[in-house]
Amino acid sequence: ALDREQMQGLKGIREFLKVRTSYDVLPLSFRLVVLDTELLIKKSLSILIQNGIVSAPLWDSKTSTFAGLLTSTDYINVIQYYCQFPHEIDQVDQFRLSSLRDIERAIGVLPLETVSVHPMRPLYEACRRMLKTRARRIPLVDVDDETGREMVVSVITQYRILKFIAVNNEKYTMLLKKPVREIGLGTYTDLVTASMSNSVLDVIHLMVKHNISAVPIIDSEGKVLNVFEAVDVIPCIRDGLYEELTASVGDALSLRPEDFPGIYTCSEDDRLDAIFDTIRKSRVHRLIVVDDDNHLRGIISLSDILKYVLLYGEEEDDIRDT
Ligand code: ADP
Repeated sequence: ALDREQMQGLKGIREFLKVRTSYDVLPLSFRLVVLDTELLIKKSLSILIQNGIVSAPLWDSKTSTFAGLLTSTDYINVIQYYCQFPHEIDQVDQFRLSSLRDIERAIGVLPLETVSVHPMRPLYEACRRMLKTRARRIPLVDVDDETGREMVVSVITQYRILKFIAVNNEKYTMLLKKPVREIGLGTYTDLVTASMSNSVLDVIHLMVKHNISAVPIIDSEGKVLNVFEAVDVIPCIRDGLYEELTASVGDALSLRPEDFPGIYTCSEDDRLDAIFDTIRKSRVHRLIVVDDDNHLRGIISLSDILKYVLLYGEEEDDIRDT
């Protein structure tokens, strides 16, 4: 019966995502900060910090087109570039946002796909595309009828989508009563961790190497002390002080903004309905799974949740098609 209820809940949510559009997820009024690609990278950092945001769409004013999304990954790329070519620090300071693609090439990382979706397409499509490209946020791009020009309407994140589900589907999320342990939600083996005394640079290298956006910081007994997130890199380099990256994780985490939402934990016995309650109430970016003594057991990322909600029990062929 638990199985049937769980499936019924998932189906309900999937149907919901098919009849709603990305546009529906947007709040009634919002502010969108779009950055011109002519801007110095250095400058872009202070703009993000001043506005209390961690990403922004880029606009190429020469061609009047959308030029991708600026995220913490781009700054991490700049840091890697600096590590590989430390004698070029003066140049790094002069880089514009338009050089980000050259930086990717120079350090040999694959450029992120500049996926976008039309705001009036079903939300389900945006979710599928997010999972497929591993994008954590997707810009909504529309075309102006009169000028034929692209317009960035907004950006939707995994968190916004999950929150939208949580707020509008309580009758379905409450059916998701199977414990996290049973549905295998999240990652429990080969966890990548660091300690307070590791340097920021050590942790950045770990995130790049394993393609993850957060590293739990644990003590010698494996108890969770904190989590270093990719976005924590932004305040570390705000003054262009790349040397500071040798500072310890402990020092870096003290730079977090005052409104930092905190880290969220859960146990392997928690159920998805409880996780949706947490998402409904708080700005969660991931859940750290701990035991009763706060020892690290696993990590549940928002992509793990989105993947489960969209794909669990779907036909394999169906997944490959879309
Ligand atoms: P998201 O895509 O939601 O931003 P991540 O990039 O952090 O999340 O996670 C990608 C995948 O890697 C997920 O399946 C997650 O469970 C796993 N993961 C995240 N952090 C770690 C970590 N520190 N060690 C091992 N696996 C992790």
